[in-house]
Amino acid sequence: MAKDQNYDVVIIGSGPGGYVAAVRAAQLGMKVACVEKEPRLGGVCLNRGCIPSKALLDSSEYYHLAKEQFAAHGIKTGRVSLDLPTMMARKEKVVEELTANVRKLLEGHNIEIIHGTARLAGPDRVEIAPSDPNSKKGKDLSLQARAIILATGGEPVSPSGLAFDGQHLISSREALTLDSVPKHLGIVGGGYIGLELGSVWLRLGAKVTVIEMLPKIATGLDGQVGRKLQRILKRQGMRFMMQTKVTAAKISRNSVRVDLETKKGTESLSCDRLLISVGRRPRTGALGIEEVGIKTDPGTGHLLVDGSYRTNVPSIYAIGDLIAGPMLAHKASAEGIAAVECIAGKSGEVNYDAIPAVIYTWPEVASVGLTEEQVKERNIDYCTGTYPFSGAGRARCMGETEGFVKVIAHKKTDRILGVHIIGPRAADMIAECVLAVEFGASSEDIARTIHGHPTFAEALQEAAMAVQKCSIYAS
Ligand code: FAD
Repeated sequence: MAKDQNYDVVIIGSGPGGYVAAVRAAQLGMKVACVEKEPRLGGVCLNRGCIPSKALLDSSEYYHLAKEQFAAHGIKTGRVSLDLPTMMARKEKVVEELTANVRKLLEGHNIEIIHGTARLAGPDRVEIAPSDPNSKKGKDLSLQARAIILATGGEPVSPSGLAFDGQHLISSREALTLDSVPKHLGIVGGGYIGLELGSVWLRLGAKVTVIEMLPKIATGLDGQVGRKLQRILKRQGMRFMMQTKVTAAKISRNSVRVDLETKKGTESLSCDRLLISVGRRPRTGALGIEEVGIKTDPGTGHLLVDGSYRTNVPSIYAIGDLIAGPMLAHKASAEGIAAVECIAGKSGEVNYDAIPAVIYTWPEVASVGLTEEQVKERNIDYCTGTYPFSGAGRARCMGETEGFVKVIAHKKTDRILGVHIIGPRAADMIAECVLAVEFGASSEDIARTIHGHPTFAEALQEAAMAVQKCSIYAS
């Protein structure tokens, strides 16, 4: 080992878990190093997840609006055509700028950024090898740390017999960088990643077929919202094959033949690319967790941690996609902050009942708290209030009237148990609902809060009023 350095905390991984933990640790006066094996900081979220997917969702939505919606607003465009290389270059620029900002942020907090592949060499030691073993640049390092935070994130999984080849059988990574619009994109898995990327390529002109093993898409959603989303996506042209299992995929002459097992028997489907988006697993390969004896969940592979994000090896912590819970960037960041605060002797914690979840289809879907199905399962007495966006003036002005807001509250205490929104700008509207859940608000609190007019958020206020059957506008 060429160099030995001492740190208060060494963080492995610079995704939204790792880099946010690094900044919080520096704020608390710790000497911090953040190790990243890729050339760019920001993890999956910035490089091949949240940000590039939303950049393409936004661009493809503009394309769709220009083609299909502008005329209704009295805007004549002539023939609208797609310049995919420019759309991709713009996405790349957004990613580049944001990852550069993360670097500046860490440098501004005097955090040592070390590029290389990290491996645990003991409870307080991290060894780093250059990520590219053929590179002449970079050398092996050994870091000593009072605490180590593992934030190496997750990676896509593929069902047995469907190995990614990066060309025809692709993961979300390749689906964000295709150089032409597929004629027919098959998608295995109707979760949020499949639906978002399916929306991008559908808007850009592909035929899109989603193959889902279960009877419903995006299983975590409130049933009423999930059904509405599927109906809307179907109307947009997305095809769904529900309760259908992919048993094999064969590539011949630039096309994929997918063998399917449906409720009625066997079938096959032909497409030119097959996006496999059936889930993600924690990325622990070659990290050395077995050697230092860190315990994992035998079913899921998640690292087991206590309420302070400490693994069974007391100096080693884990956060983000590596541990149980929703695999979301904001959850990873919240855990990064909490873990560091626990290391500093403060009482960092995360409220898992108040984590928003968003699907960036159009319309968007956003939720916090319990679904109606979960409330029923737990035998909680509850009331619901719903309000459609077609009743909101702002939605009418924009021509975005699809969807509704649903508020679920406790029948006796009126405390908000969950809010589910399908509609325009749901992703931004959910913030108010997360705050309401965090503060233990009642539906009456939202109902009596004055909302600006005309806004989409008025639909939330009306849904909250509808819980007590006193919506002004609902029929
Ligand atoms: P990651 O972001 O995965 O970062 C881990 C980092 O660790 C990586 O940079 C990796 O290179 C590095 N690393 C791994 N091993 C080593 C090693 N041995 N040494 C050094 N470095 C290492 N979430 C949302 O909240 N909203 C969204 O809209 C959203 N959209 C998504 C869209 C897609 C297509 C995908 C794939 C994911 C999306 N996610 C979204 C999920 C989100 O990206 C993850 O939940 C989040 O990135 C997890 O953060 P993390 O810090 O745990 O790990």
